[in-house]
Amino acid sequence: MLSWLINGAYLVVAILFILGLKAMSSPKTARQGIAWAGLGMVLATAVTFLIPGHDGGLAFFAPGKSINLILCVIALALGGGIAAWLGKVVKMTDMPQMVAVYNGMGGGAAALIAAVEFSSAEPPTGTHAVLAMIGALIGCVAFSGSVLAFAKLQGIMKKAVRWPVQNLGNVVHTLITLALGVAIVVAGPHPVLVIAFFAMALILGLALTSPIGGADMPVVISLLNAFTGLAVGLEGYVLGNPALIIAGIVVGAAGTLLTQLMAKAMNRPLSNVLFAPITGEAQADGAIEGSMKECSSMDAAAMMRYAEHVIIVPGYGMAVAGAQHKVYEMTKLLEAEGVQVSFAIHPVAGRMPGHMNVLLAEAGVPYDQIFDLDEINADFPLADVALVIGANDVVNPVARTDKSSPIYGMPILDADKARQCIVIKRGRGAGYSGIENALFYADNTTMLYGSAQQAVADVITHVKELS
Ligand code: NAP
Repeated sequence: MLSWLINGAYLVVAILFILGLKAMSSPKTARQGIAWAGLGMVLATAVTFLIPGHDGGLAFFAPGKSINLILCVIALALGGGIAAWLGKVVKMTDMPQMVAVYNGMGGGAAALIAAVEFSSAEPPTGTHAVLAMIGALIGCVAFSGSVLAFAKLQGIMKKAVRWPVQNLGNVVHTLITLALGVAIVVAGPHPVLVIAFFAMALILGLALTSPIGGADMPVVISLLNAFTGLAVGLEGYVLGNPALIIAGIVVGAAGTLLTQLMAKAMNRPLSNVLFAPITGEAQADGAIEGSMKECSSMDAAAMMRYAEHVIIVPGYGMAVAGAQHKVYEMTKLLEAEGVQVSFAIHPVAGRMPGHMNVLLAEAGVPYDQIFDLDEINADFPLADVALVIGANDVVNPVARTDKSSPIYGMPILDADKARQCIVIKRGRGAGYSGIENALFYADNTTMLYGSAQQAVADVITHVKELS
């Protein structure tokens, strides 16, 4: 009866995870998706307490075995409390770091499961031992790699660390770690072998992540996310826990697809991200012609107030400035004057895919006004004004024209093809890739300098005056 209850609950958990993930694919249903997946997680955790033979679970019914229960409750209260607090205080622009931390936790937890299994009185053998070992290797790499990724994104570690013959060194390192794993599976988990294996696997995560530059970090985090899913799935098989297997497979598959999508959107094959990172010194060779021309907030307001169609391109700068509410306020004013306003979202605008969609949705922008790159690019030549707010790399035309540029081949939003382009940014700061932007020097581009929120507020004032 109890096993029916547990397996039935796991089936419900699996359905909730899959439905949750499906719902997260659209901004309209994303909140619902989070709630479903969260409910699944609560159910999966609660069911753990019912598993027979599980000290923590039996403690409910068997007094005297309560130490595990106390530990479980402390761990849940600590983990849940810290996560709830972080969820409230972490800014949208710091989300990649947050994801890195969660990835690291998942990978580390999977590796710990394997460590406990190999140190137990009845260590896994045969297929179970092989899978536990692979899960431990991937989990350790995901854990230490995520810690380093967090340090880079948080600005704690400022530079990528590279050394000669790094790729060859990493191959040799991987082979030694695998050899240790094989020795444990074949000869049994001798403590020295187990400690050496885990140490090598953890260092491997650091060695693989350290040469990768900041620009590629979100892609790496997504890859580590896929690794975490795989490690959790493998350890779920070792423990015979269906919820872990399903959650691991779902996370692994989603992480793999996201990694591919991001690499494609930046036109960087995954092999380049991992083994031929952007050095940071890369600069576009082609000399950029023209000069930057400044405009006032009144000029910008007039251009948009008397336009028929305005396309807004939000970027990372809009996110850090928290200008989305002002942007929507301006949109509504322009629409009241009969101007058609659309939003163009690049797949890697901001610091994570979906970053801009979430911000605009939070500000109340209707979903049918938000368009992906493929949907809107053909509209730019017909638009009167493209208003670029704190975006840089994702509208840089050198990606189309300059083969020597590190962003050459990255699909961009064709803001330069609109009749007029207005760029709001604070000064001459470069984008994420650190290169000059030819759009800012184009004849049809004018720069409105200022922090996004204040600049848009000034434009709003003038649009009101003109109305
Ligand atoms: P971006 O290229 O980083 O440019 C942001 C611009 O915003 C900067 O030029 C900066 O110029 C301006 N800015 C900063 N603070 C501002 C403020 N308070 N008000 C107004 N402007 C401000 O951003 P993006 O165009 O969104 O491009 C995203 C970049 O991230 C791309 O290089 C992409 O490849 C990379 N990336 C994204 C992902 C992803 O998944 N999303 C993954 C990997 C890499 P000033 O300093 O002059 O103001």
